[in-house]
Amino acid sequence: MQASHRISHILGGGSDGWGVFTKARRMIAEGTKVTELTIGEHDIGTAAPILQDMHRAAIEGHTGYAAVPGTNALRDRVAARVARRTGVPTTRDNVLITPGGQAGLFATHIGCCDAGDTALFIDPYYATYPGTIRGAGAEPLAIAADPDAGFQPRAADIAAVAKGAKSLLVNSPNNPTGVVYSRATLEGIAQVCADHNLWLISDEVYDTQVWKGEHISPRALPGMADRTLVIGSMSKSHAMTGSRCGWIVGPVEMIEHLTNLATHTTYGVPGFIQDAAVFALDQGPAFEAEVGEPFRRRRALAHDILAGQNAVTLVPSDGAMYLMLDIRSTGLSGEAFAEALLEAHHIAVMPGESFGRAAAGHLRVAMTVDDNRFAEALSTLCGFARERAEAA
Ligand code: PMP
Repeated sequence: MQASHRISHILGGGSDGWGVFTKARRMIAEGTKVTELTIGEHDIGTAAPILQDMHRAAIEGHTGYAAVPGTNALRDRVAARVARRTGVPTTRDNVLITPGGQAGLFATHIGCCDAGDTALFIDPYYATYPGTIRGAGAEPLAIAADPDAGFQPRAADIAAVAKGAKSLLVNSPNNPTGVVYSRATLEGIAQVCADHNLWLISDEVYDTQVWKGEHISPRALPGMADRTLVIGSMSKSHAMTGSRCGWIVGPVEMIEHLTNLATHTTYGVPGFIQDAAVFALDQGPAFEAEVGEPFRRRRALAHDILAGQNAVTLVPSDGAMYLMLDIRSTGLSGEAFAEALLEAHHIAVMPGESFGRAAAGHLRVAMTVDDNRFAEALSTLCGFARERAEAA
């Protein structure tokens, strides 16, 4: 029996880009100590009071089917939070609760694109993007953001391929680069969406992790609320990755369609998880800042370490839990460098190529181990890059 073309081509014939990660995990399983700076997951777990509230909700009986679009309490919290942070009037009818941001990415592409339609996205990109688009039956088309322009996408480059496309997916603060899109970048993107009648899917799962400047949601730009679908999540802001709780915010009519889709796919998110998310959101911005604090601290450490050398260049970035390092001076690809670093020093980082061609010759470093280990690993990485650059 054969699997459908759609599902057997999710990876598009390429690799999933997780080779170094898989190898590191194998080494760990075999007993080698590896410093993993690979996946985007906090080194702390979900805070105990959130888990206690989850337990309370379950024991009190919120274990049956929950309302498919989400509980009113959580939808109201998400709507109020989005309205407060962006100034855009938002009610529960604009909100669908999803099992994580990833499910939101898939659902929005189903919602915007018919089979075979073109769905645009920016390279470098979060590794699941093209597969999510293919899984939804659409054709992914990447638009490269130039490393030498700070990885801020250019409106003209998007406009050049936008004719006939249905959607554009953007992500700020960005995974893998950490770049926060400027107002000018987002205004350019909004203009292209208006000119070419595109849906804008705005992945804002890192919206609380902005270390300098401000996060701008493109939904707040003039005329954009009607064509923007925002993806949000409890994963990064509240260290709740395993709880699988996220949302889509958008126009009421689209949220109704997406609720129909949810009825026929996920059938909603467990009630006790949603109650814990309400509890977590009620802890307010101070708690969110606390969850992000280790990344802010390590980013400052990294700036100090990188300032003292010149084999590695840090891509200027202001958000998320990642650093993007330019290692082109070594003459190695990101893949070759990451493989060699893992072999020689048991430090695992992600090759830029895992996130698209635009990030070739770069590494993504997740700031997800304790400060001392992080600083030591980064210093070792810089020393290794210097040796390689001198040999080049
Ligand atoms: N978008 C981006 C940019 C991400 O980095 C991630 C997770 N790494 C997600 C979406 C999905 O997150 P989740 O499903 O846990 O909400």
